[in-house]
Amino acid sequence: MASHLMRRPAGWLIAVWFAFGLWLAPLMTQTSGSESPSVAGTAAYRQDRILIQRKARVSPSVLADFHAARRGEVLRSFEGLGRLQVVRVPAGETVHSLVAKYQQSGMVEFAEPDYAVHAAATTPNDPKFLDGTLWGLHNIGQSGGAMDADIDAPEGWDVLTSASDIVVAVLDTGVRYTHEDLAANMWVNPNDGGHGFNALTGTNNPQDDQGHGSLVSGTLGGVGNNGKGVAGVAWRVQIMACKCLDSAGNGNDSDVIECIDYARTNGVRIINASLDSPTYSQAMSNAIYSVREAGIIFIASAGNTSANIDLNPRYPSCYEIDNIVSVAYTTPSDTLGSFSNYGATNVDLAAPGAAVYSTFFTADNAYLGASVIQGTSFAAPYVAGTFALMLTKYRSENYQDIISRVLNATDPLPALSGKCVTGGRLNLRKALSPPISLTAIAASSGGPFSFRVFGGPNRTCVIERAGDLTNWEPIHTNTTSAAGTFDFTDSQPGIPAQRFYRAVSTL
Ligand code: CA
Ligand code: CA
Repeated sequence: MASHLMRRPAGWLIAVWFAFGLWLAPLMTQTSGSESPSVAGTAAYRQDRILIQRKARVSPSVLADFHAARRGEVLRSFEGLGRLQVVRVPAGETVHSLVAKYQQSGMVEFAEPDYAVHAAATTPNDPKFLDGTLWGLHNIGQSGGAMDADIDAPEGWDVLTSASDIVVAVLDTGVRYTHEDLAANMWVNPNDGGHGFNALTGTNNPQDDQGHGSLVSGTLGGVGNNGKGVAGVAWRVQIMACKCLDSAGNGNDSDVIECIDYARTNGVRIINASLDSPTYSQAMSNAIYSVREAGIIFIASAGNTSANIDLNPRYPSCYEIDNIVSVAYTTPSDTLGSFSNYGATNVDLAAPGAAVYSTFFTADNAYLGASVIQGTSFAAPYVAGTFALMLTKYRSENYQDIISRVLNATDPLPALSGKCVTGGRLNLRKALSPPISLTAIAASSGGPFSFRVFGGPNRTCVIERAGDLTNWEPIHTNTTSAAGTFDFTDSQPGIPAQRFYRAVSTL
């Protein structure tokens, strides 16, 4: 939890919280009647400290005597935070027993354990997520990587894991649609029962005979939380397999275009195109423009020639069409992948794409992973899976709004500065739930106090106020503008000497 305090010239102390509702829950925890504090589980609170709040009518010296009699040493006092104190649990005493003694004393508003505070996080049971192989989703520095060099998937999954009614076309070598970790997430053609289209054979059998498309698909939408293999960025989604690349991973524009048209006529919202070419094609440009008219988001890998594509164009990334999102790849250390193309104008963002592990095409329980498997092909499906969840969350918004949300939510990285439009790496949590912050707006001396709330576009936030950081009172609700802000003035008379404000939102 991040917060900072600002002192007002008039002597007000304003707490400005960067808050999700959930983050604040531990602060608000009270021990309720029938529940023992220990129900929070072992190690859910510190064994050597408790928190108490002195009642206003109880003098500090009387409470100090009570502390001394219980051998409870006061470690920290926050008179300005509702007379809160942190008390050490003496040897031979337990948290539970000491809390009870303070509660029974009648001298405190509350006494409670020093609960552990966790960043909220939803974790699937898929073994390759749990063992840290899927570093791009959640990175705690495993395998020599950097802490948090990831898309914050567990935090994003707190908001949403499923995009079950969003169809994503994977234009690739095909997909092993019978795979144990893909089958449940394959789109089914209502007319023929197939899972897509094979432009090379003209049939409805897009079986993968190379592997690339199956690796891409597991990253985008491997079935999450099924106890097997991997978790895709979207745990549930509908993958439409469109085979336009052959068993050597090569193809031609006409086959790609036929797949684009199949995707368009069968209701996809997103196309993942982990392919690239050095050659401009008017026909391809027109095809992508036509799916733009249908509001389809087109995710393109930037290519793997270590090139600046602003100078040496690659396609489709460099077609100037605003539904194309071009993706570079990053490593477990949040550096730009050594083969990744880049371009301050023609590449939009980066996503994890090194040391890949995903579903493979050789058997229904086959997976492939190696430190050498890398490339923008595997970064694009991170972005495509994110867009599937975004389209589920923001149903009323058009493709331009959704793209803006994702691009505005990246984590800026030094290694990406000047290398792509955003200079940042994908962040699922920020895209699905933009951080909320409050900024004080300068007011004339003695004038009403005003704030600006930042929380991403169209976000309903509640301003709450408290005199003591405990008893929060909602005083204003509003929805942010398309630019992601609203302003608020607290003009209520009878202002006490001190008050705190926070902005909270449901996820
Ligand atoms: Ca993280
Ligand atoms: Ca799985």
